[in-house]
This record gives sequence, C-alpha cells and structure tokens, in this order.
Amino acid sequence: MNDSADDWLQERQKDDLQVDGALLPGTAVGACRIVALLGRGGFAEVYRGEDADGRPVAIKILHRLDDRSRARFEQETRILLQIRHPNFPRMLSFGSCGERPYVVMEFLRGLELPHGDRPVADFLLTLISAVDELHRHGYVHRDIKPANVLARDDGEPVLIDFGLACPVSKALREKNALSVDGDRRMTVGTPGYSAPEQFSGQATGCEADVHALGALIRDCLRGREPKCWQKILLKATNSNPDVRYPTARDLGRAIRRRHAWRNGLILAAGAALLAVASLVVAEFVQSARVESMPKELPRSDRI
Ligand code: ATP
Repeated sequence: MNDSADDWLQERQKDDLQVDGALLPGTAVGACRIVALLGRGGFAEVYRGEDADGRPVAIKILHRLDDRSRARFEQETRILLQIRHPNFPRMLSFGSCGERPYVVMEFLRGLELPHGDRPVADFLLTLISAVDELHRHGYVHRDIKPANVLARDDGEPVLIDFGLACPVSKALREKNALSVDGDRRMTVGTPGYSAPEQFSGQATGCEADVHALGALIRDCLRGREPKCWQKILLKATNSNPDVRYPTARDLGRAIRRRHAWRNGLILAAGAALLAVASLVVAEFVQSARVESMPKELPRSDRI
C-alpha cells in the first residue's frame, strides 16, 4: 500500500472515530493489534492488523450491535469455524472486544480477474469448489461478486464474506415472503450479480449462487463471449431459477464437459496436423532416396 493510501486510511480512521468509534492503529484486539481500516460493510469493519509476531492478519469486527447484525456475524463465524476449504479464508482466532465480536483471519489481497479461456475456466472451477462446499453444508452465499473474491500471495482465489449466507432450508421456507428486518422490507445481494429472486423476496436456493457465478464468468470474459461459453452463460444467468443449473457443482460439470470437448478438439486437430506433417516428411525422404540412387548399374555388374 502506498503512502497516500495509508494517509487516506488514517484520515478515514480519525473521521470514523469521531463519527462512530472505528478503532485507531495500535488498538489491541485479542492478541492482535489494529494497523489500518481496510473497509466497512453493512455491519462489520475489516482492519489490517498484525499478530503478536508482527505477521499481517485481517480483523473483522462487528460495528452494528443490533440482533440481526449479531446473528449474521455469528453465522459467518460459525461457517468459518465449521467448514474448512482451501478456498475459504483461514480463521486464526475469534472472540469479543468489549461488546463487539471479532474474527481474526489470514490477510488476503485484491484479485485481478483472469482472462483467456483456460485461466477463466480454472479460476471458475476453483471458486465453484468453494461454493459447492458451502452448498453441501446447506448454505447459500447470496453475495458472490468480484469484491468478495480475494487472493493469497500465490494468487490462489479465496471466497470471502459469508455475512449474507443463509441456510438453504430457511431460504426455501421464506418462499413467496419478503425477508423482514424489523418493520423494513429487506432485499439482500448486489445488483448485477445476485439473482432476481433475491430482490423480489422469493425463495433463494443454490441456483441464486449459480446466477452470481454466471455474472462473474461474464466479467472474466469482458464482453467477448465465445460461442462455447454462451450456452453455459444463458443457462447460469437465466432469470428463472428453475432453468439454471441447480447447484454450483452442476455448473462446474458443464464447464468441465465443455473443456473436455474443447481439449479433445484441440488434441484431434493436433494429431491430424502431426499425421499430415509425417506424411509430407515420409514423401520427401522417399523422393530424396530415389534421386540419390545411381541411374544405371555399372557395366561390369550387368548380367
Ligand atoms: P458487506 O456489508 O459489503 O458485505 P462486510 O462488512 O461483510 O461487507 P467484508 O465484505 O467481509 O465486510 O469486507 C470489507 C472489506 O474488507 C472489503 O474491502 C474486503 O476486501 C476486506 N477484507 C475482508 N476480508 C479480508 C481479508 N481476509 N484480508 C484482507 N482484506 C479483507
């Protein structure tokens, strides 16, 4: 991070402190210390921090203390505790700082979306394995978007922010009923990524995450959608959840199939090219041999 970004963060922290008590650099949170504010979401703040040995960590701490925010935070902590996956953030510790619950996670960096057919497919399949793990444990993420995919130093993508995740069964029970937050009607998700049913209060099952993954594929392809991706995209981002792939795993299968087919085609084309090349070489060697043969046998050899 450059100096001006650090300055900006420190300025922001001063403002935050005056406005609603964001934490200052040096504040102890469990065994860690705050370094700088990274971001503030709907109900939590995330800080860059360091552990007792000076290693960088991310500290997520609740800033809204109403019941709904607490429940979301608890759920996110539970998911990070219970579901281990190489593409989920590693949780290092958790606790409470006064009234405010917090979790300490590995520190991650921003991720640049890949481009190119193969890197996009590999990235998507990695992310899908993380989403599939969540689905297998009965949760829908509900907020998959580029900002919620960070990376480790080696570039491995990590899915973050399980604050909006909800159990599938609960989501289905909410069928045809708007989620209600106190007396306010709530819709959850991010326009452009989250499925339409999340904004109309209908049931949100795993197909909602499939929609967001489809939108993410679109981002990766940056408006250049090869024909072979179009079918997958149309199905994944269909406004009717019943038309979409039912789970992230099914979307993953379709991407794998498409790639197996494409790789098969590339292999077949390569093999055909090799065959033609070896025919040409054989022909050339044969004609070179004929040319180097003596036109007539020496006289003494004649019978
Ligand atoms: P929202 O209300 O938008 O869902 P949130 O309160 O749940 O937000 P996050 O989205 O989890 O908070 O994170 C807020 C900011 O902190 C984001 O800018 C995110 O990139 C950053 N962040 C979250 N986790 C980490 C991490 N492990 N390492 C580094 N940065 C992180």
